[in-house]
Amino acid sequence: MNYSEISRYIIHYSFHLIIPFLIGYFFFRKKWKTAGLIMLSTIIIDLDHLFANPIFDPHRCSIGFHPLHTLAAGIVYFLMLFIPSWKWRVIALGLLWHLGTDAIDCLWGGLISF
Ligand SMILES: [Zn+2]
Repeated sequence: MNYSEISRYIIHYSFHLIIPFLIGYFFFRKKWKTAGLIMLSTIIIDLDHLFANPIFDPHRCSIGFHPLHTLAAGIVYFLMLFIPSWKWRVIALGLLWHLGTDAIDCLWGGLISF
């Protein structure tokens, strides 16, 4: 792994693990820890990688490939923002952030382009 790849991994995982708490602090000030933990738990959608072969491939973009990382899934996550419950809104934000983070990673790795 070269320097750029290492920083790509560090940024990717800190986006997954740390930013949820910042989003929680920004949008759900009093409940930021709970919100952060709920958003962190949305990483569970990465379980869809288990259906892929190979399970992990650093040169494959998860966006648009794994079932819970598709545009259709993203639309569902977006619609979940409208469920009148702060917890569902947190889950939806977490899922959308997850897709965003994965997309940034794919862009950085040159796996997708616009
Ligand atoms: Zn993912």
